[in-house]
Amino acid sequence: MPLPFVLLSLALAPTDTLRAPLKGGQPWQQEVAYDITARLDEPRGVLEGTQTIRYVNRSPDTLTTFSLHLHLNAFRPGSKWAEADARERRTRFQKLEDPAFAFNHVRGVRINGAPVTAEYPLAPDSTIVRFRLPQPLAPGAAIEAAMQWDARPSTLPRRQGRRGRAFDFAQWYPKVVVYDRFGWNEQPLVPAGEFYGEFATYRVTLDLPEDEVMGATGVPLCGDPGWMRANKGTTPIVYQRDWYDAPSRMLSETACPTVPAGRKSLVWYAEQVHHFAMSMNPDYRYEGGRYGGVAVHALYQPGDETTWGGGIAVKRTEIALGWLDQLFGKYQWPQMTNVHRIEGGGTEFPMMVHDGSADQGLIVHEVGHNYVMGHLANNEWREGWLDEGFTSFQTSWFWETVSRGEQQSYPDTERLILNLDLDGMSQPTSLKSDQYRDFATYNTMIYARGEFFFDQLRRLVGDEAMRAILRTFFDRHKLTHVDEAAFKAVAEEVSGRDLGAFFATNLHTTDLVNYRIGRVKRTRTADGWNTRVEVRRTEPGYFPVELLVVGSKGDSTRVRTEGIAEQEFVEVRTTSKPREVVIDPANVSHDWNALDNYKRYFFRADDLLGGPGFRKTVFFDTHVSTPQPRDRLALGLLPTVWYNDAGGLTLGLRTRESYLGRYEQNQFLISRSTGGFRPGADTDPQDVGVFVRLRNPVLLRMKNWSQTFEGFSVEGRQGARIDFSRVRRDHLAFGATRRGSVGLRWMNVDDPAYLQANTHDDLGFVETYASMGLKDVRSGWALDGQLGGTAGFTYDRPATSVTGLTVDPAYFRLEASGTAKRSLGARGVFAARLYGGYADGFGDAAGGSAPVQRLLNINGATAVDRFYHPFLRSEGAVLVRNDLFYHLPGGGNLRGFSPLLVTRGIAALNLEADQALLQRPRAKLLQRVAIAGFVDVARVFGGDLNPAGNDFLADAGVGLRALWRIGQSSVTTRIDLPLYVSEAGLAQDQNPGTETTGFRWTFSFAPAF
Ligand SMILES: [Zn+2]
Repeated sequence: MPLPFVLLSLALAPTDTLRAPLKGGQPWQQEVAYDITARLDEPRGVLEGTQTIRYVNRSPDTLTTFSLHLHLNAFRPGSKWAEADARERRTRFQKLEDPAFAFNHVRGVRINGAPVTAEYPLAPDSTIVRFRLPQPLAPGAAIEAAMQWDARPSTLPRRQGRRGRAFDFAQWYPKVVVYDRFGWNEQPLVPAGEFYGEFATYRVTLDLPEDEVMGATGVPLCGDPGWMRANKGTTPIVYQRDWYDAPSRMLSETACPTVPAGRKSLVWYAEQVHHFAMSMNPDYRYEGGRYGGVAVHALYQPGDETTWGGGIAVKRTEIALGWLDQLFGKYQWPQMTNVHRIEGGGTEFPMMVHDGSADQGLIVHEVGHNYVMGHLANNEWREGWLDEGFTSFQTSWFWETVSRGEQQSYPDTERLILNLDLDGMSQPTSLKSDQYRDFATYNTMIYARGEFFFDQLRRLVGDEAMRAILRTFFDRHKLTHVDEAAFKAVAEEVSGRDLGAFFATNLHTTDLVNYRIGRVKRTRTADGWNTRVEVRRTEPGYFPVELLVVGSKGDSTRVRTEGIAEQEFVEVRTTSKPREVVIDPANVSHDWNALDNYKRYFFRADDLLGGPGFRKTVFFDTHVSTPQPRDRLALGLLPTVWYNDAGGLTLGLRTRESYLGRYEQNQFLISRSTGGFRPGADTDPQDVGVFVRLRNPVLLRMKNWSQTFEGFSVEGRQGARIDFSRVRRDHLAFGATRRGSVGLRWMNVDDPAYLQANTHDDLGFVETYASMGLKDVRSGWALDGQLGGTAGFTYDRPATSVTGLTVDPAYFRLEASGTAKRSLGARGVFAARLYGGYADGFGDAAGGSAPVQRLLNINGATAVDRFYHPFLRSEGAVLVRNDLFYHLPGGGNLRGFSPLLVTRGIAALNLEADQALLQRPRAKLLQRVAIAGFVDVARVFGGDLNPAGNDFLADAGVGLRALWRIGQSSVTTRIDLPLYVSEAGLAQDQNPGTETTGFRWTFSFAPAF
């Protein structure tokens, strides 16, 4: 011990804050003082130290054990952190070798002078060490624990780290585990979750190489942390040595312990902080500033002169402190140090932020943690939303304020959370960090969903009350441990509202919220109108409802209800006759289905399109950009025109609807053939086509399910389809995506004039199908597998099929496919696809068959798939021309062959490798151009159908691909040159005649597979 311990204990006179019972917060918290002495052995990267911890038991319990965190032991093989990384397919610390990994060893521990034995309750993880006390520690009594330790940060940085002579020391010393009403919080350090510390006094005496420049929590009582030499600023350096005013604690300028030549000695001191962080680098540049009485220190690296230097980082830190002080209350500590650490991103510590950049938003976020986490010290792994959600919320509010309301994060955050809620991927915001499904879910729930909670509260109580809540919370609880109960008590007291249901729904569940307008009765009264509105809550979640009634003369009335009842009647008075009733007119609640929040009593032209009564945004649908308003239906209108030989020029009008980009994905299309531009035709067909598709109606919403109902009568075919599909991701950031679907399909040929020769039998069929698929990434390979089966029957069959075979009344199809893709270096992609399929009649031994439109296609997609593309649907269509060779992927995918070829059975292999000539992932238009080589081979079965009589077919060639980003959609253009086709007579491009090799081409708007 460098100094008599008595000096330190004098410094620990307990303050009133610690003793007094806290309203709505913790009734007590333990009292801790560290006296640390450490020497940096720079070549070994190791800090060697001794420390004494004085610990006063302020709890009502008698303690028999004493626990310490050794957080650095997370960043090494064998830890629970490494285990979590491996489980989530990340490689970080689990394979680090000595001397790359981190450690913190503790030795020679004595409690009140008696040696004690270390236990590692989470072994092989050693981030928690526990000791049995020599004697039980009664309430009010104290112990003194003395120990030696060594600590080394890891070379792979994560919230700490070392690189050469640069060291970011965080959570680096044996740190007292918090004892609170849950007992000892012996939490291992894992990726999901941060820290929790007892408020303490720290004295840290350091012995360092003389040229190290450092920053830390606290103030340097003696010695210069290197700032004098590194100073690039113009203002005098403010050390704040005299901040802590009790003279007995202070050392004089020259009283640092003496050290050998080439070394320097420093004593740092801090009070009422729950961690002590440091960062050192001999290359640091120093700049200083002030915010009121608070000293601001910035330490940046060579090369940062224009991004951190010139006062930039100092100024931004001051701006952050200014914003936060007016939002919460006065910063209580002597200084704020902002350092450019080794790792990117940022991490917060009391009086110190380790940042990867001097971005203003990052600084507001990390400095903000000094208020929520630092001063208002929640348990960061038990209630991470209370520091990370809170901080994200105030950072967004900062941007909203400086942009004068231009920059609003709420709509995007709300949409992100809503989509996760609807997909069933959300977990409650209040979970303990390590209870989340995975790290990405933890992050999203704690940061974004946490921010969303505070956002919603602000919208509920209003800005003025929200500011009062933050200030009261800070004023009442600063420099203590806080929790949800403490925050809720303040929020309820200040707002004067019962927030029980609001906190319950938004923190402890992922319940959906939906209110809808039921019956509405309007009655005339002596002095105006009374509207009685039935408000129905159709989901378990709660949010107080705002109801607006607008009168015909523009007058309006707003009424609030708590929204707790499943059904309630609300009376609203207006002076003129009511013409509109709206739930949540400000569009701020989390009501997932806003389409049922609206009723009106007047006609609008858009009532004629799509669902009448829905609020709509009608737009010209170019496919480039589809608006997705939160509170109304988007309805795109597009006149269509296409051509085919039977109908000639065909004109139509299409509407495409969408709500939230996922519901009411409805399509209506009406078209009429004009007969125009048909060569040599004498009569004009005037066939009317109708196509209707309803997809995912809000009324049928089911988690992960999607429903399609379709009916059509178009170009010689009628049909209908019902499909139920389910898609579910196992995890947000890794793991499998599983899909399955079942459906029923009917399709009938009634006018063969439209059909491409030999693609359809003139009959109707009804079939049922089921399929399942799985997608995942394993060892760098993107894998996708699919398995499907179909059983159907035909009616109105002709005597023989166009294949010359008998069509069986009942048939089946089986298909299986798998693709594997991986990158080849930085610019290339390799992809392989295996496909197998078989289609046949049920049990007809005399060569019966499935109808030709349900056989397997050698070149690509089947006739039924092609029906859905107006440009591929019928003979002579825009992409079905003698001189145009279009490839719609699917089936055997032998891209050089004719799309008319079908077979009973096929096993195919497609291989493709490409190399980018141009790669601009962030470009607005052209993102990637690549040259490719490909080989497609297949074995076909069912000789009677196999047109060449040759069981093996193959093509090979080269191609060019371009990936475009047009508005919100990605489009591929692909040109392939199948220079080799094993059966020239079956090639799509017949120009080289009977030669197997020759110049052939095909093109597509889809990747090959
Ligand atoms: Zn944060």
